[in-house]
Amino acid sequence: MKKYRLPIILLAVFEAVAISLWLTKDNLFYLINFSYIGLSVSLGMFLLIKKYKYARHLVQLLVGLYMLIYLGLICQENMQIEGFWYYLFTGVFEAATIHYAVAKIFGPLIFGRGWCGYACWTAMVLDFLPYKKPKEERKKLGWIRYITFALALIFVAGLFLAHVGNIEHIMFYAFIIGNIAYYLIGIILAFAFKDNRAFCKYICPITVFLKPMSYFSLIRIKCDKDKCISCGKCKRVCPMDVDVTDNSRKRKNGTECILCMECVQECPKKAL
Ligand code: SF4
Ligand code: SF4
Ligand code: SF4
Repeated sequence: MKKYRLPIILLAVFEAVAISLWLTKDNLFYLINFSYIGLSVSLGMFLLIKKYKYARHLVQLLVGLYMLIYLGLICQENMQIEGFWYYLFTGVFEAATIHYAVAKIFGPLIFGRGWCGYACWTAMVLDFLPYKKPKEERKKLGWIRYITFALALIFVAGLFLAHVGNIEHIMFYAFIIGNIAYYLIGIILAFAFKDNRAFCKYICPITVFLKPMSYFSLIRIKCDKDKCISCGKCKRVCPMDVDVTDNSRKRKNGTECILCMECVQECPKKAL
C-alpha cells in the first residue's frame, strides 16, 4: 500500500475540502466539485504508479475540460486571475476565490505545483505540443510574469475605480479573450523556444502565487543519494529544468516542479 500513499493523501485532502465547504457553505456544488477533482487527480496518480503512459494527460483532460467548459463557459465563472481579483474585490468567497485558495495559494503548501501538472487547462493543450523536453537553455525572462500579474490586477481595479457597470458580464468576455490569448501566446512561445512549458516559465501570472507557496511544499520529489549514479537522465527529461538530485529547498528551479514524475520514471536506479 505504501506506493499508493500519494493518491490516498491527495484524495483525503480533496475530500476534506469538499466536505468542509459543503457543510460550511451549505452548497452541494462544493462536495461534487472537489470530490470530482480529487478523484480525477488521485486516479491519475494511481495510473502513473501503474505506469500508464497517458495518465497525466488523462487527468489534465478530465479536470481541465471540466473547469474550462463547465465552470468557465457554461456556469460563466471567470477562473482566470482577473476573476480571482474580481470576486476578491466584491468580497464574494465563491468558486473563483475558493479555487485560487485551494489550488493556487494554500494548496501548494501541500501539493506544490500539482495544479500545473494535472489540472491547468492551458497546460492541458501545451503538453500536447512536440517539445516535452526543452531543447534550448532556459531564458532569463521570468520577470514578465510580474508584468502580466500587475496588468490583470490593474485591469480589474480600473473597472471598479471607473465604476463600470455590469462587470460580471465583462469578466465573462475577459475569460474567453484571456484564454484565447494564453493559448496563442503559449503555442507561439513553445515553438519559438522549443519548449512546451515556455508560457509557464516566463508569462503565467499565477506563478507569482504558485512559486513562493510551493517552495514550502510538503510533497516533493527527493533523491536517494546512495542509489544515484549521477547519470543526469532525470535532468534531461524534466520539462521544468529542475535539479531534482539536490534535496535542499533551494534546488535549482525547485519551485517549478509540476510533479509530472517524468524524472521518477526515467531514473535507472529508482533513486527518486
Ligand atoms: S504555470 Fe500557469 S499556465 Fe502553466 S500550468 Fe501553471 S497555472 Fe497553468
Ligand atoms: S521531471 Fe521531476 S523534477 Fe521535473 S517537473 Fe517533473 S517531477 Fe518535477
Ligand atoms: S536519473 Fe536517477 S541515477 Fe540518474 S542522476 Fe537522476 S536520480 Fe541519479
